[in-house]
Amino acid sequence: MAQGRIIKVAGSLIVAEGMASVRMYDMVRVSRHRLIGEVIELRGDQASIQVYEETSGLGPGEPVESTGAPLSLELGPGLIESIFDGIQRPLQLIRQKAGDRITRGIEVPALDHDKQWDFEPRVKAGDRVSAGDVLGVVQESPVVEHRVLVPNGLSGTIKEIHQGHARITDTVAVLGKDDGSEHTLTMMQRWPVRQGRPYQQKLFPQAPMVTGQRVIDTLFPIASGGVAAIPGPFGSGKTVVQHQLAKWADADIIVYVGCGERGNEMTDVLKEFPELHDPRTGETLMKRTVLIANTSDMPVAAREASIYTGITIAEYYRDMGYRVAIMADSTSRWAEALREMSGRLEEMPGEEGYPAYLSSRIAEFYERAGLVTCLGQEERTGSISAIGAVSPPGGDISEPVSQATLRIVKVFWGLSAQLAYKRHFPAIDWLLSYSLYVDNLAGWFTDHVSPEWNELRARTMRTLQEESELEEIVRLVGTDALSWKDRLTMEVARSIREDYLHQNAFDDIDTYTSLNKQFLMLRLILEYGEKGQMALESGCNLSDVINLPVRERIGRAKYIPEDSLDYFKEIETELASQATALINRGGI
Ligand code: ADP
Repeated sequence: MAQGRIIKVAGSLIVAEGMASVRMYDMVRVSRHRLIGEVIELRGDQASIQVYEETSGLGPGEPVESTGAPLSLELGPGLIESIFDGIQRPLQLIRQKAGDRITRGIEVPALDHDKQWDFEPRVKAGDRVSAGDVLGVVQESPVVEHRVLVPNGLSGTIKEIHQGHARITDTVAVLGKDDGSEHTLTMMQRWPVRQGRPYQQKLFPQAPMVTGQRVIDTLFPIASGGVAAIPGPFGSGKTVVQHQLAKWADADIIVYVGCGERGNEMTDVLKEFPELHDPRTGETLMKRTVLIANTSDMPVAAREASIYTGITIAEYYRDMGYRVAIMADSTSRWAEALREMSGRLEEMPGEEGYPAYLSSRIAEFYERAGLVTCLGQEERTGSISAIGAVSPPGGDISEPVSQATLRIVKVFWGLSAQLAYKRHFPAIDWLLSYSLYVDNLAGWFTDHVSPEWNELRARTMRTLQEESELEEIVRLVGTDALSWKDRLTMEVARSIREDYLHQNAFDDIDTYTSLNKQFLMLRLILEYGEKGQMALESGCNLSDVINLPVRERIGRAKYIPEDSLDYFKEIETELASQATALINRGGI
């Protein structure tokens, strides 16, 4: 192992000499405290090292030892329900061992190496296996079956396979390779965080990740394997949206990376997340969640690594064939860590001091999301949907991090402080937000929900846009300037906003709406609009159309339980008969 010496310390960046034999991104141990660091620049025999722990008290002359390997994660059973810091140190275990503050240089393995798991083989002696094949499974939590895969680059014939209790470092299989040698396999593998895990093929996402949140699924859907960004002005309901997604999005595994938000906010996440109830399984949400937490009081470098740690864990579960949703909050804090490290390296600063490679780093993160065919002989797909929160200073998304993010992501849920102030939740602004998946998902919605779906969606968007144009006119010259037709359009838009887009996360029924129910609700509102226009054309009074008694039931349709959707037929019939009666009267 290379042994170098510190020649300079600048915050979490140190420079060491005598490091000629190390490689970029090798992990090193710094000083007699054996702090964890990573080589991020090499010049001759000098290495710049970002240290993931508090560097105070360090000085020139102290030893730096290379481990000869890049910063890697331990992947295996036990990840679920864990809370890690940015370099996968298990925060709960450390707390048990060392108290509230992470002691420097503490060496606690990321996963519990002593715990016994019940390994159930899926192959038998004599089977041919290759990378990605399922060797066996263990029940990692009541709701997650952990599939132990043949690690990358290996293939051969199973010589021995274990059944029953084993620790993650025990041998569970012996593989006879084609060159005659043997390879023992355990339930744990290591993987360098900065390297994406391989798959067979990336597929274009064709199905939505259904979230049960009407404004998202109907207007701005995210594909399963898609990428989205959400800005979070304070108090705009970002946390509630994230919790709703974690609870309801049709994903099997949730990875939540909290990087560098204010210490107390992160503590909230650590407190709240484990308490969230998983409506689908009846367990707590943690039973299918991995949390990565980096508060701003932890060293800045670990924050930079946290996002890679998160996405690597997400890839690991994707490779098992799961649908994973990763949420990163906030990528702006992460980018600030990049900027800080870049500054210490004295690199040429780009826009607002961010390094020139900011965009490519952001792209690298989101590009690791997607829908893929996994490695392995058995056909299976897995996906990672990535949702990154951006928190631009002052809410101004023209700054570099937001801009670089918006160039990559395909969905933008623009949370608006104004809507939140008016208590319109979720405060996703329909005029600001977009989803570039809409066209690609159109066929899916036609096949799985209704052939009318895409038309309804388009009419909804059109009505909302018309409303904003009409509002402009009203502001200038008042409501009286509008025709009845326009006033009815505004009334329908109001119904879309209040009866449809507004969704109460805390109401037992309203908190989740299936796509079928979304379709029925939306059709009802638009049907009302259509019948209303017909009534106006046949000479009816605007106020009669607006005050049609059935509207009260339309307004309450959101509270119709999922198992009583037949009820919509009744309301539709009532709407039709009231409208007909009105037209018959008006037409006389
Ligand atoms: P942020 O994380 O952006 O600061 P929160 O997500 O904590 O904001 O939301 C602030 C408050 O707004 C919540 O405590 C809640 O009262 C309200 N709120 C947000 N979203 C919803 C929602 N979908 N349904 C009902 N209330 C909501």
